[in-house]
Amino acid sequence: MPNILVTNDDGVNASGIQALAAALDAIGAVTVIAPERNWSAAGHPKTLHKPLRMGQVTWPDGRVAFACSGAPSDCVALGLLGAADVTFDLVVSGINSAYNLGTDVIYSGTVAGAMESIINGVPALAISLGGEESGAASRDVAETTAAVIAAEIAGEVLVKGLPAQTLLNINLPRLSRAELRGVLSTRLGRRVYRDVLDKRVDPWGRLYYWFGGEVPTGIAEDGSDIGAVENGYVSVTPLGIDLTSYATLARLEGWHFPVVGSTR
Ligand code: MN
Repeated sequence: MPNILVTNDDGVNASGIQALAAALDAIGAVTVIAPERNWSAAGHPKTLHKPLRMGQVTWPDGRVAFACSGAPSDCVALGLLGAADVTFDLVVSGINSAYNLGTDVIYSGTVAGAMESIINGVPALAISLGGEESGAASRDVAETTAAVIAAEIAGEVLVKGLPAQTLLNINLPRLSRAELRGVLSTRLGRRVYRDVLDKRVDPWGRLYYWFGGEVPTGIAEDGSDIGAVENGYVSVTPLGIDLTSYATLARLEGWHFPVVGSTR
């Protein structure tokens, strides 16, 4: 039976990770190592300046999960380095309580957990569910649906494998299985952020700031993750970790860079 490490960024007691772990029991031996607090939009930290701790919590279903003081990326690093005395075949991160579409993947702690895994050579999935605005199903129904679909895709990953340093970023609208229109393989779409700087004054006259504004929207192009979920589909986007811009690399050949070194 494959060993599966489950993490998230909403925290170890979030409902999404509990549904996910329960569904993954069907295809492997599940170990949960998740952050003790919410790390949403905290990106990909590597905690080096202070110790990391792993406590244990018991979920309502009786499962004992590890609650870690670090970020999702720390949880996965700890797990893959043997903190739970298990060698893992797959890492699954989620179910996040909001979409991770387009450039959200740069900020996402959920995706960072999966990224940490593929950096270390273990295939990974990230799963995110749209918010209330994305569909009419109750959170329970939508999370159970997303968890079962994630487990089915995870089973396929265990059979087929993924190319090195590749993860699957999965997003689903908040719908029941019968309401979902299908599963589409997609590319990252274009998010439109509507951040507004909220500048305030504290009781001592000093300025402080909040990032405010509306929930991000996106351009629902065909073939994109945003287009898929907006049309009621499950979106599956393969993500790599090579951020090189190859088109630019080719163009740089014609540039006059500074001449350095002694062999002129
Ligand atoms: Mn989150």
